[in-house]
Amino acid sequence: MKSSRRQFLKAIGSAGALAARCKTSPAELMGGQVKSIGKAAKTYDVAVVGAGVFGAWSAYCLRKSGASVLLLDEYGPANARASSGGESRIIRMGYGAEEIYTRWSMNALPKWKGLFAQAGRPELFQPTGVLWINHQDQKYAHDTEATLQRVGARFEKLALSQLRERYPQVSFEEDCWGIFEPDSGVLIARRAVQVVVDQTVKEGADYRLEAARPPTGKQRLTEIMCASGERFSAATFVFACGPWLPKVFPNLLGNRIFPSRQEVFFFGVPADDHRFSAPAMPTWLKIEDEFYGMPDIEGRGFKIAHDSHGPRVDPDTQSRLATPDAMAIAKQYLARRFPALKDAPVLEARVCQYENTSNGDFLIDKHPEMENVWLVGGGSGHGFKHGPSVGEYVTARVTQGGKVEARFSLATKEVVQRRAVF
Ligand SMILES: Cc1cc2nc3c(=O)[nH]c(=O)nc-3n(C[C@H](O)[C@H](O)[C@H](O)COP(=O)(O)OP(=O)(O)OC[C@H]3O[C@@H](n4cnc5c(N)ncnc54)[C@H](O)[C@@H]3O)c2cc1C
Repeated sequence: MKSSRRQFLKAIGSAGALAARCKTSPAELMGGQVKSIGKAAKTYDVAVVGAGVFGAWSAYCLRKSGASVLLLDEYGPANARASSGGESRIIRMGYGAEEIYTRWSMNALPKWKGLFAQAGRPELFQPTGVLWINHQDQKYAHDTEATLQRVGARFEKLALSQLRERYPQVSFEEDCWGIFEPDSGVLIARRAVQVVVDQTVKEGADYRLEAARPPTGKQRLTEIMCASGERFSAATFVFACGPWLPKVFPNLLGNRIFPSRQEVFFFGVPADDHRFSAPAMPTWLKIEDEFYGMPDIEGRGFKIAHDSHGPRVDPDTQSRLATPDAMAIAKQYLARRFPALKDAPVLEARVCQYENTSNGDFLIDKHPEMENVWLVGGGSGHGFKHGPSVGEYVTARVTQGGKVEARFSLATKEVVQRRAVF
């Protein structure tokens, strides 16, 4: 790790220059991960605020690059309020014509699996496969097929007769066809993020349960103050606060990131009925209907979610109780698509929130006025799977500079009015 730390310092400037920015000596910087400097207790190369999937992977990759890293979260990694909280998230390669996300997903899956293997937790990826249920003239589906083909991702194209033969427990309309991704599946979300944080700490980063106060001023940020009174200084700050970004930077992001209420339901499968667990039942998406779901994993239930954006919510205070309306919509869809489950009981409901941007693309850019502050978020309902790719991208920008992709820039994030479909 020491030589990689030297590489990191070389990459972002000399230790002297960095120390000047951090108000501590080069010897202190080169000698250890954490140093005291008077009242502002600790100094790091990078402080990452927010231990959701984006912050956790950013901290992990930054630490692997040799940086001294502080990761902090006000409620804990993948807590019940966070967008990364909850049971499960899909990892799929198909993204219509959006090749960059297909590539990012293909890059991310082995990184997730590698980290789980390192932690002795291979079960945190469930290889259920992912089935796209498409209609005949659906452009997104044809684009997905073309992109998967172009980048060499493994998939099978299934005609209606094949769908019906393979998945008799699913009701398909007459004009359906399918794309099956055999290597994709489900990440066990909350526990996966916790494992990333554990591994980051094992690599030598510090993790703290602290609420950072919103930074003020228009210049270089020297430290963050926490609600507890603790202060942490760093050369670079990464704010990966997900749906809290509009609260942390109200003037800049108040209208650019739109946290929307999302409700998810788990239905009970009859005992001894294996038609709704993998491998008989894959994870599935039907984007035309704005529904997706997963097989019964770990006896938790058959998951169904309506992907349409709910009302704007505050992640601190929104009610986490499911509404009867949302439950009725989910039950209706379940009965239509999976007739054998029409009377299945609801085992569990979860209420979460997306953090939508106007273009559905992530926000990974520098703050326009605080030159050493990075804004990382805007997962827009599809960010989880990309954690490792986001972490690598953030690390490359922090350590090597370079222009951010236009699609991730603040400049492309308009006031949010419409739904972007990914
Ligand atoms: C219901 C639902 C289903 C989804 N399904 C999928 C899917 O199938 N596949 C997929 O890839 N993606 C999916 N997503 C999207 C994905 O989960 C999110 O894009 C991703 O989790 C966002 O992560 P994040 O780290 O940006 O935000 P978060 O996980 O919300 O993390 C932000 C963290 O910042 C902390 N924080 C905020 N402010 C402060 C502060 N001032 N001080 C300290 N800490 C602070 C919070 O406590 C929080 O832990 C889904 C999202 C939801 C809600």
